[in-house]
This record gives sequence, C-alpha cells and structure tokens, in this order.
Amino acid sequence: MELTRKEFLKAGAAITAGAFVLGGTGTEKAFASNAPPIILSKRIGEKTSICAYCAGGCGIVVNANGNNVISIEGDPDHPINRGALCSKAQSLYQIRTVDGKTNPRRITRVLYRAPGSAGWQEKSWDWALEEIAKRIKKTRDANFIEKDKDGITVNRTEAIAQLGGSAHDNEEAYLITKMNRGLGLVYTETQARI
Ligand code: SF4
Repeated sequence: MELTRKEFLKAGAAITAGAFVLGGTGTEKAFASNAPPIILSKRIGEKTSICAYCAGGCGIVVNANGNNVISIEGDPDHPINRGALCSKAQSLYQIRTVDGKTNPRRITRVLYRAPGSAGWQEKSWDWALEEIAKRIKKTRDANFIEKDKDGITVNRTEAIAQLGGSAHDNEEAYLITKMNRGLGLVYTETQARI
C-alpha cells in the first residue's frame, strides 16, 4: 500500500500517541525524555517552499514553530525531487538557524554601501526602491540609443545589465524580462543557466 506524506504523518502521530497513552516501554520513555519538548508538546507548522540554491526548483518542507525553524527537509510530494535534496540543500537549515539560534549573519534589512565607503548603512525598503528607480532612470536617460549607426530604430540602452538568480520562478522571470525589454535592456542574463 502506498502512503501519501500526509497519511504517513497521520499514521506516525497515531502510533506515537498510542505509545504515550499506554505509558510506553523503557525505550519510548527514554525517547520522550530526550526529545525536544517543543516537537512533542506542540503542533508545529509545516510550510512548503522551493529550494533557493539552484534552478532545479526542488520542493522543501519547512517545519517551524512560529518564527523558530526546527528543520528543513525535501518534500516527498514534490514532482521534481520527490523528497530528495542534494548535498547543497542539506544545509538550507543553516540559512536560518546556526547552533539552534537564529543565524546572526542572515540579512533581514536593507543595507547600503555608498560608493567608496567601507561601511554599511541600514536603509528602509522605500528608500531602496526609490533609489533603484532613480538610478535606472538617470542611467537610461543618459545612455538611451534611439537609432544605431545605420539609422535603424533600436530604442535600447547598453548601459544597464540585469542578472537573474536561480530563486526566480517562471512568473518572476517573465515579469523581469518584460520590464527589461520595456526599458530597452539588451544585456539580460540569469545565473541559473551558468
Ligand atoms: S540546490 Fe539541490 S536541492 Fe536545491 S534546487 Fe538545486 S538540485 Fe534541488
């Protein structure tokens, strides 16, 4: 009989609950005393997501208790990886958590380093978005090419390039490409193809 992931978890929960109701054997009691209480005493939230490392798009399950990520594993119901994760993705958990604590090096705010500066300044998202838009417009206006050397209309700028990342999904890539073409960018590439 084939079990789906949900059926498997349900069956596992029923067996565990049965063991505790019966008082448990010595092994079960030892397991209960050593197990992280957060897992045994509370229901944790499971959220599915996509691995951020490459363009493979493997599915993951993030187990979290509120903001506290307890584990990240391959999603057995995902059609691409069917529960498997490559060695790179085995470390996904460390993006969020190191030694049981929130990874202090995980960037959660906008940081800006001005040209020539050695230090980073914390900025708001509004500031960052406006600044990006301003600089794109300024660069595009200053470098827009309406006609090429043969007089052919090209309406492009060669002064801005765009590099996508492997975490972009199809829909995001479609929108980014549409925006690029609208701006007249010709240098558009993605890291996922490298
Ligand atoms: S890094 Fe590994 S697990 Fe992540 S998408 Fe690529 S192949 Fe899949």
